[in-house]
Amino acid sequence: MALIFIILYTKMERKVRVRFAPSPTGPLHIGGVRTALYNYLFARRNGGDMILRIEDTDSQRFVPGAEDYINEALAWLGIGIDEGVREGGNYGPYKQSERRDIYREHVKMLLDNGKAYYAFDTPEELEAARAATPNFQYDASTRGQMRNSLTLPAEQVEQMIANGEKYVVRFKIEPGRNVEVNDLIRGLVTINSSVLDDKVLYKSADDLPTYHLANIVDDHLMEVSHVIRGEEWLPSAPLHVLLYEAFGWTDTMPQFVHLPLLLKPDGKGKLSKRDGDRLGFPVFPLEWHDPKSGEISSGYRERGYLPEAVVNFLALLGWNPGDDTEIMSMQELIERFSFDHCSRSGAKFDFEKGKWFNHKYLQELADADLAAKFRSVLEARGVDNAAYSDEYVTRAVSMVKSRINFVEDLWEQGKFFFEAPTEYEAKAVKKRWSAETPAILNELVGRLAELPSLASQPAEENIIGWITERGYHMGNVMNAFRLCVVGECKGPHMFDIVELMGLDEISRRVATAIEKIQLPE
Ligand code: GLU
Repeated sequence: MALIFIILYTKMERKVRVRFAPSPTGPLHIGGVRTALYNYLFARRNGGDMILRIEDTDSQRFVPGAEDYINEALAWLGIGIDEGVREGGNYGPYKQSERRDIYREHVKMLLDNGKAYYAFDTPEELEAARAATPNFQYDASTRGQMRNSLTLPAEQVEQMIANGEKYVVRFKIEPGRNVEVNDLIRGLVTINSSVLDDKVLYKSADDLPTYHLANIVDDHLMEVSHVIRGEEWLPSAPLHVLLYEAFGWTDTMPQFVHLPLLLKPDGKGKLSKRDGDRLGFPVFPLEWHDPKSGEISSGYRERGYLPEAVVNFLALLGWNPGDDTEIMSMQELIERFSFDHCSRSGAKFDFEKGKWFNHKYLQELADADLAAKFRSVLEARGVDNAAYSDEYVTRAVSMVKSRINFVEDLWEQGKFFFEAPTEYEAKAVKKRWSAETPAILNELVGRLAELPSLASQPAEENIIGWITERGYHMGNVMNAFRLCVVGECKGPHMFDIVELMGLDEISRRVATAIEKIQLPE
């Protein structure tokens, strides 16, 4: 009884240590970012450690720049790493290609205790076996007919290795066993070991382990308590359980958590880069320049998303806080995160919702901060920034920001604050402009000039009073006036615009419009 208690107690008390373990084979996909985020939230929630491990054992698929990209993306999003290649830590190296000795030693352990064996089959021999046997699988039913250390005499095996013949080491899977994977989201998943093949664990050709071996050896040595990763890795989990057993490490087996897939916004299936291209949204956190093809893929950062918005949006793709709260800062997410409210079924990638989050977070920014960001858009549009005070830009931003999803949208909504219109919305001209309009607008400008100030509210009252008094058509006058200043019949409150722009600019624009708008004969 006491012993059971101690075992349970130590299991429960195990320090939470999680790892994000990307392979540097290209830019980090947005699904990978979500995996990193959930690892981070879980670690922080439980006072644990977050490890970043670079799984670069597949030399064929290594892409230069991918590791830097991963670091930069996580830093941009505020996903902090406690241990890693850059951060250091007591369990390093954190890059698998620098851990060859460790893997060699562990492969040897499995060979020595009979859990693994050498296999010398050439690609041609494997091809022939596949051609001869439908659904061929290298396993208990076929390994007896193949060229491996279970079928060849020991001296010959030694000789072949000494001669430098290429070999792989395979895991010897015992058939007919029920393998249980306990998953925090999915519950108990049981599969029969007979469906598994004798996975390659190591290749002498490049002196590197395969993903499976390196992954579990590192999880064990790095004392990982929870393996939190995408659902696509669920099929590997039974093999990982068996590997833990083969090493005699069942007591420290991590808790598995397989996150739901991210699905296409429309229709069924996994979200892919093509969906992003087709529907016009990024599937990568940062812009990626492919070093081989030169192709550029767009990123959330360059598209004008705030990192806080991306984090909030991703957090809710597969998890909810238990109520309908949507806007949550990283700190709030940490406080509320748990796997109890993670869904099993895939999460539709609703990029319109992503825009909505960005909209919300932009509204939270102080007007002055938004204005500072808008300055670079103005610059890119050829506006002379020096001509406008911070106060002017800030007030302009405050008037139009409620309509934007991105900082860039401020231009579309507020460009008239910086550029006089050169064209006038034709439909509105037709509807609102008549032969009398120029005279009325000149009168309006004269009236504004007589006011002691252009403060929005009194100016409005005054002008409205005057229009009424004169019996002019309110809609026609005000819309014609707006056309002169804005170029179209939309935008913020007209008298707020007047107050900010000042009389000189307003009268210039009215004069220009009168000159330019030619009525049809
Ligand atoms: N290297 C794997 C990947 O690229 C890691 C999977 C895992 O977390 O076990 O996603």
